[in-house]
Amino acid sequence: MPTSTNIVVIGGGVLGTSAAFQLAKDGHQDILLLDRGPLANGTTPFAAGQTAYLSASPDRLPLTNYCLDFLENFAERTGYPIDFKQHGSLRIALTEAYLPELEAHQVAADGLGHELKSLTQKDAQELVPTLEVPEAKGIIFIARDGYVEPKSVAVGYASAARDLGVTIQTHTKVTNVDVTKGQVKAVYTNHGKVSTKQVVLAAGAWTRQLAQQFGLEIPVVPVRHQAYVTAPLVDVVPRQPIVRLIEPQIYVRPELGGLLVGGYGYRPTSFDMNDLPDHFEISALEPDFIYYNRLQHTAATYFPALQQAVVVQELRGLPTITIDARHLISTVAEIEGLIIATGCQVGGIQSSPAIGRMVADLISNQDSFGLLSTFAANRFEAVCSDTQLRDQCETVYSNLYLRPH
Ligand SMILES: Cc1cc2nc3c(=O)[nH]c(=O)nc-3n(C[C@H](O)[C@H](O)[C@H](O)COP(=O)(O)OP(=O)(O)OC[C@H]3O[C@@H](n4cnc5c(N)ncnc54)[C@H](O)[C@@H]3O)c2cc1C
Repeated sequence: MPTSTNIVVIGGGVLGTSAAFQLAKDGHQDILLLDRGPLANGTTPFAAGQTAYLSASPDRLPLTNYCLDFLENFAERTGYPIDFKQHGSLRIALTEAYLPELEAHQVAADGLGHELKSLTQKDAQELVPTLEVPEAKGIIFIARDGYVEPKSVAVGYASAARDLGVTIQTHTKVTNVDVTKGQVKAVYTNHGKVSTKQVVLAAGAWTRQLAQQFGLEIPVVPVRHQAYVTAPLVDVVPRQPIVRLIEPQIYVRPELGGLLVGGYGYRPTSFDMNDLPDHFEISALEPDFIYYNRLQHTAATYFPALQQAVVVQELRGLPTITIDARHLISTVAEIEGLIIATGCQVGGIQSSPAIGRMVADLISNQDSFGLLSTFAANRFEAVCSDTQLRDQCETVYSNLYLRPH
């Protein structure tokens, strides 16, 4: 490992690897990417890997469209292919309250010239035979949504970054950052000290805890998110679209002949990584069976085949949440040379192209999407207690589908 370098990226998940790739692509030299474990071993490999690029907020569209374009052309951008299963998505409102959101998606799609269809319940069932939503008030089909194998995305960025000269060092845990007179000077690791003037902190669930080591409070909280995969079921069509039901906040898509089912608000639980052992791995995250049972019960209301389904895989991890459900991609006024990339809001895979781009923008003095102020740390002015912060982030997590998208 080098003892001195230009930029250190902490975290080899989808955000850190994307940032390292974009920084190298901008021509920055001497970049060191560090991970405490193997590459992409945090929350990233447990994601459902789904994309939802149409945003009801017009200002977000350049960003989400960049992500869509990047994922669609991943091999050309990075040199490494990913399998983006673009079978579209159904977004379903069960009450009239969410019809305006569907209409906003239509406006966004029209603005981009992309296909978006309104479907009847019968049309939807033809696409997804296991779905039963007789009470649906509105159903739209978004043709360009899809899903990827999440680890392959991080590995693709990392491989491309390595090809551009980035040094990747796994099993190297950053224990602290040396900040002297308000300037980053070095990182301390279990393999020694590395002098540097620029640090990108993309340590996923550990971001807040690591920042606390050098006296910085970052208002971001890891909240457990769970999904599961069933054994193959009759009538699951491999090419069926993702189904997103807004009010019960569930998503369902095909996976290996069965269904992958996830949802929000079923029992939100935030974590303080200081309470977990030093060697804790995301793969050791305890299941919350009350959450799983509630999720299963609700999902079976709309997918009756799930009543008899056997679970063959459980997915869970600790995505990071902020109190306003926006990413935190920012420099920090108190510490020159530090950039934070966190607050994935359970969407880090799909947003990773733009998040990496914005991290690089902060160092390369650009603002590709004109959104850096939206994601800046200085938007959090009011200081609240740890309990309030965690409560607010759990509430945000509990309502992720119910906020305007
Ligand atoms: C069940 C589930 C379903 C999901 N579905 C989707 C989806 O459909 N679409 C989507 O876009 N997103 C989804 N997500 C969210 C997505 O997984 C996250 O947004 C994303 O993986 C966050 O990436 P990250 O790089 O911030 O964190 P991580 O992947 O956790 O990476 C952080 C890395 O930092 C390393 N690290 C931590 N501390 C240190 C240290 N001190 N020194 C060195 N390295 C360190 C860790 O080892 C880890 O590898 C889902 C998540 C879950 C759990």
